[in-house]
Amino acid sequence: MASAERIGIGSIILGCLVLGLKAAAWWVTGSAALYSDALESIVNVVASALAYGALRVSAMPADANHPYGHGKAELFSAIIEGALIVVAAVSIFEHAWVTFHALRPLEMVGEGLALNALATVLNGTWSWLLIRTGRRLRSPALVADGQHLMTDVVTSVGVLAGLGLVIATGYLIIDPLLAFGIGVYVLWSGMRMMWASVSGLMDAAPEPEVVQRIRELVAESATGALEAHDLRSRHSGRITFLEFHLVVPGSMTVAEAHQICDRIEERLKADMHHLMITIHVEPEEKAKQHGVLVL
Ligand code: ZN
Ligand code: ZN
Repeated sequence: MASAERIGIGSIILGCLVLGLKAAAWWVTGSAALYSDALESIVNVVASALAYGALRVSAMPADANHPYGHGKAELFSAIIEGALIVVAAVSIFEHAWVTFHALRPLEMVGEGLALNALATVLNGTWSWLLIRTGRRLRSPALVADGQHLMTDVVTSVGVLAGLGLVIATGYLIIDPLLAFGIGVYVLWSGMRMMWASVSGLMDAAPEPEVVQRIRELVAESATGALEAHDLRSRHSGRITFLEFHLVVPGSMTVAEAHQICDRIEERLKADMHHLMITIHVEPEEKAKQHGVLVL
């Protein structure tokens, strides 16, 4: 966990540095495209700070006030992040619109492009490092972070290429059009992020593959039981909640039935992380014949 924390702080520091460089690039040139690129960076810095805080909160163990843990903190931070991104997109559109109606030659374009290029190289290096470390530590969150940062590198390269085109052709209109395009992209990514978190807050079911895997593991490990039914599952941040009814022969002792439950729990927890399982045991007359039949 310590190295993940260091990486989190590193992302915030690097984000501030990149933001400073990109803001300077916009300041010296007055380019709408560079403005939108800098604004995207502000969102990134705030997002990594929020994600860092949310990770710390969600890692706190369950307590008397929050007996189900603190996993939803991550969803809150993603919703706020998504909302910020939408606000940034609106500001980008506004800036592109104003620039579109008052086209002016860009100033000090060489310096501006150099500043932005330096920021892009820093971002690219950091994202490569995140992906590599994430794969080494088997952390999907880190890999996702790195890949997210890589999309920013791609937009920055697009901005640099577009402004190169402005210099080469003299068509000033390319600048606000580029900014508009980035605004659309930023808006889309913000909406997508908010949508993913809303489904988490609404207790959406896990992906069908995960549910299928759970059913297989229950069927494999519940030897001695007859059937499992009414299986329900939901994600809450990193924690996955799972509950189902387990039908056993009515003559089975409580101790034996409990042993089966423990075996199922062990098998599931060996395969999936951060799982909270509740099993309700029933005698055979409660069988429904449409749940998971025990193999
Ligand atoms: Zn039942
Ligand atoms: Zn128990």
